[in-house]
Amino acid sequence: MPLRLVIIGGGPGGNTAATVAATLGAEVVLVESDLLGGAAHLRDCIPSKAMIATGVALEELERARAMGFAAEGKLDLTALRERVSSIEERLHSSVHDLLTSQGVRIVHGVGRLKGPHEVVVETPAGLEEIDADFIVLATGSRPRIPDFVTPDGERVLTTRQAYPPPDVPEHLVVIGSGVTGVEFTHMFGALGSRVTLIVSRQQVLPLKDPEVAAVLEEEFLRRGVRLLKGARASAVERDGDVVRVRCDDGRVAEGSHAVLAVGSVPNSEGLGLADAGVEVDERGYVPINRHGQSNVPHIYVAGDLAGKLPLSSVASMQGRKIAEHVMGLHTREHRHLDYDKAASAIFTDPEIADVGLAEAEAFSLGRKIRVTKVPFSSNAKALIDGDPRGFVKILSDPATGVVLGGSIVGRNAAELISVLAVAVTCRLTVVDIVDSLLVHPSLAESLTEAAS
Ligand SMILES: Cc1cc2nc3c(=O)[nH]c(=O)nc-3n(C[C@H](O)[C@H](O)[C@H](O)COP(=O)(O)OP(=O)(O)OC[C@H]3O[C@@H](n4cnc5c(N)ncnc54)[C@H](O)[C@@H]3O)c2cc1C
Repeated sequence: MPLRLVIIGGGPGGNTAATVAATLGAEVVLVESDLLGGAAHLRDCIPSKAMIATGVALEELERARAMGFAAEGKLDLTALRERVSSIEERLHSSVHDLLTSQGVRIVHGVGRLKGPHEVVVETPAGLEEIDADFIVLATGSRPRIPDFVTPDGERVLTTRQAYPPPDVPEHLVVIGSGVTGVEFTHMFGALGSRVTLIVSRQQVLPLKDPEVAAVLEEEFLRRGVRLLKGARASAVERDGDVVRVRCDDGRVAEGSHAVLAVGSVPNSEGLGLADAGVEVDERGYVPINRHGQSNVPHIYVAGDLAGKLPLSSVASMQGRKIAEHVMGLHTREHRHLDYDKAASAIFTDPEIADVGLAEAEAFSLGRKIRVTKVPFSSNAKALIDGDPRGFVKILSDPATGVVLGGSIVGRNAAELISVLAVAVTCRLTVVDIVDSLLVHPSLAESLTEAAS
């Protein structure tokens, strides 16, 4: 009899686990309360990137003008909204088709654990109980709402309420300057909003390399973004069409709208975790071991709910590794997921991407590293494209030349970082990069130069 796997949540963590396990021969049921594809496709990653792409296209028109092409751009918000919906719809359908083509049974409804081997789903037709040999929980997370604010969905918004907008906010106050905060600053700035960014520390992207953050801050200032540094929002008030964000040091940021970008919380309530003996940590995440198992070995967790790295790419990879582990494939060529080697990108202009060891981390570990940095201003393709901003930085082991990490700031950084991600994962050396015959002219040539 095939092994029975029940998955709650159809985002990247859940749907990848479902597809891989079904391909490997499991009988899979996937429970989803909303549309397949998850918050990743419908509320977070994809809609934000689709809107950013529209902003980039508007900026390309500016660049085209600088290159001698007379072009005018005007934002059409209706077309933008239709475009975002059509991308979401296509992604949703492709996930649905992939799952059904692999024989995954999809149950629409809200799922929870009823016991260690039983899931109960509230469907529109009533309760359905499903027995399972193995269970994967992949219910994701949602925006964190601090106690000092109540979003009204009109002018005081969570990230999920901010797009696609009915109108471009005249003046947006972005609370939080981590990845989501800077992407929203860039996104709405490019669409025409004035933006004030509340930065609780002295640098945007406080966890990133200061040189990387400096390029972005410079770009924000050039575009007229107001940076309120060292300020923590402590109250948000709405007065008609005006929103005031009060900071703990007495400063006030006033705008037409405010958006909260202050992290996320896991969707672990109401999941029946206690009924199945699954432990959660003090923040509500479900701790996992390196195979993705909770403290109950046949109950696995993929994606944001596990509280590791909140990225779609990580959620999908966790889903795949879990399916392989459930199906007994981990004994062969199985590599454990190494979170320290995950590449990530920030879709601002210029783009920012990094992977592996960071300089500050190496310093705090007292680890000897070789750091090489090359600006795009010496790259022929960057000059041809009219965008020589940013740089490539590679960190390697001075004794062996093994690539340990790197950062890229500039055009197409999110694509270029893949080269360094493969190098870090496969333990390639700087010589391996230097010896690769790359295309000329290309931005990737700066990687070869930095590796030399
Ligand atoms: C603004 C923003 C932008 C982002 N951009 C990126 C990016 O560019 N790149 C990137 O890699 N990551 C990005 N992320 C992070 C990414 O969206 C998440 O890491 C990813 O969605 C996590 O996937 P998941 O499978 O854990 O959960 P989700 O994608 O949240 O999916 C969980 C699913 O479970 C369903 N569900 C929840 N509870 C139940 C229940 N009880 N029963 C049935 N179904 C249930 C939900 O409806 C949902 O469909 C972004 C996040 C934000 C907030």
